[in-house]
Amino acid sequence: MSTAAPEAIDTHNRQSRDFWHADLASADPEVAQAIASELKRQQDKIELIASENIASAAVLEATGSVFTNKYAEGYPGKRYYGGCDYADVVETLAIERAKELFGCNFANVQPNSGSQMNQAVFLAMLQPGDTFMGLDLNSGGHLTHGSPVNMSGKWFNPVSYGVTEGDELIDMDAVAATAREHKPKLIICGGTAYSRVWDFAAFRRIADEVGAILLCDMSHISGLVAGGAHPSPFPHCDIVTTTTHKSLRGPRSGVILWNDEKYTKPLNMAVFPGLQGGPLMHVIAAKAVAFKEALAPEFKAYAQQVVDNARALAASLEENGLRIVSGGTDNHSMLVDLTAKDVTGKAAEAGLDRAYLTCNKNGIPFDTRSPFVTSGIRLGTPAGTTRGFGTEEFTIIGKLIAEVVDGLSRNGPEGDAQVEESVRRRVGELCADFPVYPGR
Ligand SMILES: *Cc1c(COP(=O)(O)O)cnc(C)c1O
Repeated sequence: MSTAAPEAIDTHNRQSRDFWHADLASADPEVAQAIASELKRQQDKIELIASENIASAAVLEATGSVFTNKYAEGYPGKRYYGGCDYADVVETLAIERAKELFGCNFANVQPNSGSQMNQAVFLAMLQPGDTFMGLDLNSGGHLTHGSPVNMSGKWFNPVSYGVTEGDELIDMDAVAATAREHKPKLIICGGTAYSRVWDFAAFRRIADEVGAILLCDMSHISGLVAGGAHPSPFPHCDIVTTTTHKSLRGPRSGVILWNDEKYTKPLNMAVFPGLQGGPLMHVIAAKAVAFKEALAPEFKAYAQQVVDNARALAASLEENGLRIVSGGTDNHSMLVDLTAKDVTGKAAEAGLDRAYLTCNKNGIPFDTRSPFVTSGIRLGTPAGTTRGFGTEEFTIIGKLIAEVVDGLSRNGPEGDAQVEESVRRRVGELCADFPVYPGR
């Protein structure tokens, strides 16, 4: 028989019924409403942000699972907490699948984000003040590759390489010359807004010549690498980092991959306890799910479709009078130069959003406008390809984008309301034919 007073049990039962069973809509209508609105936004607009994607129902379920409750500091088999049996199961699955997917010997699946995976590599491989080399932000590099406002630029000594003014491609002779001059301890290849193939073998030769560690941050293209639609950074690169939520289509997170045993201890120690505490086990579970999806044969077809769609979108934009930086794309993304239309990236982003086409303003190489205004937009096909768009749909999307930009070119930042209304209607038709999370 229970020793608690009957009224106390009553109150407890009533409260716990809510605690265990109330759905979000009744527990917290304000947050529930924002989530419902976000779902509708994703359903009703076409997502063209190159760093975004649409995760599967299974990935979402794992992310929202009871692993959110679990502390599991340490690594599988060597934890600082009890009760880690099943945490070990999902983390081991994630590690084994990551290794299989990218064909490498070691993986750390604990970084909470892309920025933290790169911080961990810096912590493991460099001392404060050390020189490293990365792609210039203005040429499509990432903040964590040496931007002066980022820790990578504040605590280390970044030197950068960029694209050349003529063809807007990375000039490997210039990369080699910069490396010889500055003798960086670490060289990073990979970026956020570079739409051509990376020559990893050429970077390897340069790294060997100057005695640098070669890091590839393949965050943007890792889904293409996994699906065989872009060459792999292995075996050329010593360490490879990637976010898991971009073309790879998993939860928001990062991983670190490598082949040589000598990096195992420093990299694992840098992630935990160097930078992080308890790993996000629910996100690690979701990473395992995403890696399984990426190992399936369908993912190869997806990755190839992403690239085919990007080529179709770039061709359509060019046909409709817009200039693509470097003259095209080999991957999932492209930069559109709006200079000739006298339209800013800022105005284009806003005008396209009014027409239900979501993208981001982005500086173009040698941009004369500030990063808050810019002369370009960046577009990508991973999310649209996930919802089922093929080259036909992306050819239409290119035409719709050009219509909105031409409206902005004629009328200034307020655009052409009639054109935007008409584009919104046609976007609605495409979205209805290829629904996102149907039934939700
Ligand atoms: C997106 C990205 C990152 C950072 O990822 P976050 O999860 O946003 O911190 C790092 N490097 C590259 C190349 C990226 O594209």
